[in-house]
Parts: sequence; C-alpha cells; structure tokens
Amino acid sequence: GNAAAKKLVVACDTAFMPFEYKDTKTGKYVGFDIDLWDAVAKDLGLEYELQPMAFNGIVPALQTGNVDVGIAGMTIKSQRMEVIDFAYPYYQSGLRLLVRSDNTDIKSVEDLKDKVVATKIGTSSVDFVKPYTTKPIRKFQDQDAAFMELRSGGADAVIFDKPVVEYYAKDAGKDAVKVVGPVYAGQYYGIGFPQGSPLRKKVSISILKLMESGEYAKIYKKWFGVDP
Ligand code: GLN
Repeated sequence: GNAAAKKLVVACDTAFMPFEYKDTKTGKYVGFDIDLWDAVAKDLGLEYELQPMAFNGIVPALQTGNVDVGIAGMTIKSQRMEVIDFAYPYYQSGLRLLVRSDNTDIKSVEDLKDKVVATKIGTSSVDFVKPYTTKPIRKFQDQDAAFMELRSGGADAVIFDKPVVEYYAKDAGKDAVKVVGPVYAGQYYGIGFPQGSPLRKKVSISILKLMESGEYAKIYKKWFGVDP
C-alpha cells in the first residue's frame, strides 16, 4: 500500500506474551511489539491500524500484500526471507524447553526421543524440535493451548520462544512447571514487509534511531524488567 495515502494495516499475533496480547480490562492489544511499532510509526509519521491474526497467517498475508507490515515476534528465517523482507533485527531470542515441575527424565532436547512435545503451529520451534523426537509433535494454533496440554499431562514438554516460556513459567510458578536445558536455536526477531516494500529501510533506520536514543531501552525495560 501507499504509506502517504492510506492507513497502514499492521498484522500482529493474537497472543504472544509479553510482545502482544489483549489486555482483558481495556480490550486493547498491548506489549513490547505494540509499543515498539507505535514508536516507529510516530517517528515516521505513519498512520496505522493493528490487525491481530493467527501467527501462521502473517507471512502469507504479507506475501499477498493483504497487510503492509507484520510485527509478531517473528523469527528471521531463511525460508521466510525468501518470500518477505525483514527490517533490522529488533530482539535477540532463542527457544527454551518447559516441563512439569515433577518431571525428572527430561533435562534437554536430547531426552525428547519418545516424548510428546507441544508447541505452536507454523513456528520456528516446530522445525527445531522435529529431529529430536520420534512422536508426532502436538501443534496448536494458540500457545496457551500448548502450555495447557503440558499442564494437563497431554504432552511431556513444551518448546517455544525463550521470552514467552520464561514469562509463562514465572506466572505459573515453581510448583507447576520448570525450564530445563540451555537456550536453543539463537535467533532474531524482525518486522516483516511484502517484498520490495519501500517502508522496510525507513523502519530499519527508525529502529536504529530508537536504539541510539534510549527509547528502545525504555520500552524493553517496561516489558522485560531489565535493560537490553
Ligand atoms: N518466533 C517464532 C516464529 O517466528 C514464534 C512467533 C509467534 O508465535 N508469534 O516462528
């Protein structure tokens, strides 16, 4: 779309805490991604509307040009880079393994061979964990359902993005779940665009400016409680 003429449509995930989620009190989407994008949009004088959607719909929506921008804790991956463009990476992430607190036999991904693993459909975790297990991976549209599957005993482990797993583990408490093993598959998140979008470079410059000015650090601290 033409940035000057119309409101940009910005896709985000429906639930990827604390990057984006619906505030139950206000009904508005909040989170690190939402604040970061808002700061970029202000810097560039862009008008936009958020369009929350299932994560696995975002890359296709960018490919067809149905949306102008995608911000969704989206990992920069080679297959995605072949079909969409990414701005300058804005967050360093990785994957972590979560089990129930009473679990004693899963200490790393090497122990997943005959275990049932739950995660979110269409995410980098699916590709990463495939080689480690002989059982079908239980894939959910919504990551909360994957966490629930672990809690209820339908799955032995969850693998998912580090910040989301750590946020969930803290919230659920030590008696319920524990994070095991190292951080896997170091990766970066990037804001996505339809291929050739003139916005991509402008957004990259804006992200760098926010990093240089300290505004990025402020937003980071607000959502993660620590300095970047
Ligand atoms: N970072 C993961 C990916 O890009 C998951 C993103 C998400 O679920 N919003 O595949």
